[in-house]
Amino acid sequence: MTNFKEEYKKRVTFAIISHPDAGKTTLTEQLLLHGGVIRKAGTVKGRGSNKMASSDWMAIEQQRGISVTSSVLQFNYAGKRINILDTPGHEDFSEDTYRTLMAVDSAVMVIDSAKGIEPQTRKLFEIVSKRHIPIFTFFNKLDRDGRQALDLVDELEKTLGIQAYAMNWPIGSGQVLQGIYDLQRNKFIQYDNVKNPDQSVYNESMEEIELLKDAGNQLDEDKVLRGAQTPVFFGSALSNFGVEQFLTEYLKYAPSPSDKATIDHKEVQPDNDQFTGFIFKIQANMNPNHRDRIAFVRIVSGEFKKGMDVTLARNGKKLKLSNVTQFLADERENIETAVPGDIIGLYDTGNFQIGDSIYTGKQKVEFEPLPTFTPELFNRVIAKDVMKQKSYHKGIRQLVQEGTVQLFESWHGQEYIIGAVGQLQFEVFQFRMANEYNSQVIFEPLGKKIARWIKPDQLDEKMNTSRSILMKDQQDNPVILFENRFALNWFVDKYPDIDLESKL
Ligand code: GDP
Repeated sequence: MTNFKEEYKKRVTFAIISHPDAGKTTLTEQLLLHGGVIRKAGTVKGRGSNKMASSDWMAIEQQRGISVTSSVLQFNYAGKRINILDTPGHEDFSEDTYRTLMAVDSAVMVIDSAKGIEPQTRKLFEIVSKRHIPIFTFFNKLDRDGRQALDLVDELEKTLGIQAYAMNWPIGSGQVLQGIYDLQRNKFIQYDNVKNPDQSVYNESMEEIELLKDAGNQLDEDKVLRGAQTPVFFGSALSNFGVEQFLTEYLKYAPSPSDKATIDHKEVQPDNDQFTGFIFKIQANMNPNHRDRIAFVRIVSGEFKKGMDVTLARNGKKLKLSNVTQFLADERENIETAVPGDIIGLYDTGNFQIGDSIYTGKQKVEFEPLPTFTPELFNRVIAKDVMKQKSYHKGIRQLVQEGTVQLFESWHGQEYIIGAVGQLQFEVFQFRMANEYNSQVIFEPLGKKIARWIKPDQLDEKMNTSRSILMKDQQDNPVILFENRFALNWFVDKYPDIDLESKL
C-alpha cells in the first residue's frame, strides 16, 4: 500500500499551451519517449498532416465511442509521475481547452522561435496567468533559422508582461546552431548535428551570456511559483535537443498538487483525508447508440478508491464511483486508486455538470465555480421544424448547461444566439441537437464579435445599433456584441462613463 500523502507529492500535472504548429505534439512525444511510454516518434495521434479535422473527429467518435485516450497522458520520470492534459488547438479549439487549464498546477508554453508570440499562445497565457500558476517557456525549433534570442525574450516580457529568466541560452540557430549553454551548470552542450562550426557565433553568444549573468534577472523561485517569472529554455523538440535538460529542470521547479478554494473561502489541502474533486470537462459520446459520457475529475484531496461513495455538492445526490478510468498514452485503464493531481474519468449517465464538486464523508465541500470565458464567435439559432419546439428548447437548455456553448437572447423578442470560443463547439451542438434531441437546427452566422457585459443600471436602449447588438445572457445581464474593435472604441468614446467588462 502506498501512502497517498507521500504519493501525491510526486505528481506533476500540467498542460502545454501554444499556437498551432509551434511543436506541442512533437515535444509531448519527446517527453513520452523520455518517460519510456512510447518507443519511437510518430506514435502520438493527431500530429502533423494526420491532425484531425473536426469532421474526422466526429467520425472517429462514432466509430470508437468516446475517444479520450489522448486527453490525459501519464508517465513516470526521475521519481515523478507526470500528467499532461491535452489542450486542443486548431479546429477543435474550444472552451474545453480553456477549462482544462483550470485543472493543472503549472503550464509549459511552447513558442516557435522563428515566429515568437502568436495569438493563441497569448490567449492561453492570459487564462493561465490569471490563475497565478507557474509558467515555463520552451523556445522551440532552434534547428531552424530563427529570431535572435534576446529579441524573443524581450518580446515575451513586453507582450505578456512576465519576467523571464534564461535557464539556457542558444549558441547560434538554424544553419549555424552550435549548441546551448546551460546557465544552471555553466556548461556548454553541443548540438549533435552541427552543420557549420563557427567560432564567431560561439564568441558572440558567450558575450551575451556574460551580459545575462551580470545584468539579467536572477532566478526567483518564489516569483516562479506565483507565475510572475517564467524560466526560459531553448531547444529543438524535433531533434530532441535540449529536451532532457528542460524536463529535468522543469521537474525540479514544477509544483506538486496545490490546495483549492471552496465557495466559502476555505482552502482544501491535498493531504486532507477527505476525498474531494471537481469536474472540469465532460466528453459526450457522439454515438447515438451509446449515450454515455465521461466526466473528467481532477482530484483535489484524499485518496480515490474504486467503488467509493461520494456526494455531488450541487444537489446532495449520493453516487458510487465504480466505473472509473484513468488515461494512458495509448489505452484506457480501469483503476483502483488515484491521488491528488490525478485525473480520473467517470462514466456518466447524466448526473454531472461542468464545475461540479464531489466529496466523501459528511462535510460538504463545494469548490469555487469554474470561470466562464468570453465567447468570440456567434450564431443565431433557428429550429428547422417548428412543430418540435419542445425538444428544441429542452436540447438547447441541456446542452448549454453542459457547457457545450453559451446561450444569449436578443434583448427584445425570442431570438436565441449562441456563442463559443471555437467553431467545433457549434458543430458539436448541431450534431447533438439532431442526434439526441431529434431537433435540426439552422445557424445564421453572426461571425466574430467582441462581447462586453455592462451594468443593468447603465443600460440605454439607444446603445442597440447594427454594429453593437444588445443581448442578455442566461442571468438576464445585458451584453453588447460589438462588430469589431473599431465599433468598441467608438462606443467607449461616446459613453466614457460606462464600465465594459469581458469575462476571462
Ligand atoms: P503542434 O501543432 O504545436 O502540435 O505542432 P507539431 O508538433 O505538430 O509540429 C508542427 C510542425 O513543426 C511539424 O511538421 C513538426 O515536425 C515541426 N517541428 C516541431 N518541432 C520542431 C523542431 O524542433 N524543429 C523543426 N525543424 N521542426 C519542428
